[in-house]
Amino acid sequence: MTRTIAVTGAAGSIAYSLLFRLAAGAVYGAEPVRLRLLEVPQAVDRLEGVLMELADCAYPTLLEATATDDPDEAFAEADAALLIGAAPRTQGMDRADLLRANGEVFRAHGAALGRSAKADVRVVVVGNPANTNALIAAHHASHQQRADGQRIDPSRFTALTRLDHNRALGMLAQKVQAPVESIERVAIWGNHSNTQVPDLADALIDGRPAPAVLSEVCGGAANARAWVRDEFIPQVANRGAAIISARGASSAASAASAALDHLRDWTFGTNGARVSMAVRSGGEYGVPEGLVSSFPCTVDADGAHRIVDGLDLDDDRRARIGASVAELAAERDEAAALGFV
Ligand code: NDP
Repeated sequence: MTRTIAVTGAAGSIAYSLLFRLAAGAVYGAEPVRLRLLEVPQAVDRLEGVLMELADCAYPTLLEATATDDPDEAFAEADAALLIGAAPRTQGMDRADLLRANGEVFRAHGAALGRSAKADVRVVVVGNPANTNALIAAHHASHQQRADGQRIDPSRFTALTRLDHNRALGMLAQKVQAPVESIERVAIWGNHSNTQVPDLADALIDGRPAPAVLSEVCGGAANARAWVRDEFIPQVANRGAAIISARGASSAASAASAALDHLRDWTFGTNGARVSMAVRSGGEYGVPEGLVSSFPCTVDADGAHRIVDGLDLDDDRRARIGASVAELAAERDEAAALGFV
């Protein structure tokens, strides 16, 4: 089966870390891919350079790669779309300014996806504010008249919190000196912002509850709780800023890697494992219906994502999730006031 994948912001730094792995089979293995790269008109020349390098890799799995500044052309018959392109947050810009700039982008891209992509397209929003951009794009996609009479369901639009999930996994693995693959059930809840809730209360390390293992490593349950509260949660939530200050540039390779993890797991299933994805809420765990919030999810073999149900959240997690979800609701209200939804 040949897959058609659209990537926006394709001349940017995250895309530069992502496209070569995608073309080489990081998501679809040996299945051939067609890449449709979208950029703003002033960056299309730079994209030509990316196309040249993709050709020079001579990947057996890359059937074709094309560049355009026309969203309908980029999204035509797309099986998946990675929406990375977004106006950057510049100095002095507040959240409303960012939402105003990117609301326009995601309104246009959502509408074009609604008209042109396959009805069962998988959309992964990376550009910030990712959750609310996904909500805006889903809204406009689902209101389009399509030639085939179908309608893209808003659940086909997701936002990336897998990077936060992977950061949490990496940090816990380092703390307890265990391999990453021995850890399961880490979760991220809420918004992809510094209000996010990295959660390892239900995590297992080699099948043992993570709080018990941490208690041994930290020298007692109280120390373990303090590490989670004072180091783990704030460091995961603020890792992006730490990377900018250390590297002088924002994280690109890890963001790209997480986006590929998200798309691969959503496409082929997680075999029961929990991953974090920001998906449209149906009212689960008190998150208002329609918000795009991060939850622990599993993906069935046929590619249907499901929010893990029946988790018993303590007061601390409830309060933290409530605060992050309140931020999402405020972003949605700002988007509505700006006429984006
Ligand atoms: P990046 O490729 O570094 O980032 C792109 C977007 O991803 C930003 O919104 C960024 O948010 C977000 N992002 C999400 N997670 C992360 C993370 N962990 N680390 C870093 N960024 C993250 O930006 P570039 O400026 O290099 O490239 C963006 C490209 O998008 C440009 O080539 C530009 O021309 C294009 N673009 C396309 C548009 C379109 O197609 N209509 C519209 C606007 C831009 P944050 O800013 O918060 O870091």
